[in-house]
Amino acid sequence: MIKSKYVSRTHASNSWPEIPRPAAAFDAGRQQYRGGALLEELERRDIAGADRVVGLIDADVYAPGLNFIFGQAMKPGRFAVVALPRLRARPERVLKVTVHELGHSFGFAHCSDTNCVMRFANAVGDLDRQGFRYCALERRPR
Ligand SMILES: [Zn+2]
Ligand SMILES: [Zn+2]
Repeated sequence: MIKSKYVSRTHASNSWPEIPRPAAAFDAGRQQYRGGALLEELERRDIAGADRVVGLIDADVYAPGLNFIFGQAMKPGRFAVVALPRLRARPERVLKVTVHELGHSFGFAHCSDTNCVMRFANAVGDLDRQGFRYCALERRPR
């Protein structure tokens, strides 16, 4: 399992109610949801007491300028979304994207370290090559 202290110190809950997919976030022409609109929906339905809220959606998601995205986060912010369809063949991919998006929520940028979880990935092969951890750059004191 994940040994990262960032993850192991986190209390995660999956007991929150399911949120209906927001129709306004769906692009019928693309048959995809727009990530930014999903983040806005999470913000509207904020969960009291949660430091971070990660929405999982079982639908394909895009951002303007990209054919699809694995996830998106407010940077920095409290809300992130992870799209499952392209990831679910290997559950560790879901975990990596979640850790990556949480990193953005803490203000981390993309990283050039090939093993770093903050490396930009736009193919599952990229995800499989990168690690689960933030590298020394993100872990440095700020
Ligand atoms: Zn990213
Ligand atoms: Zn890094």
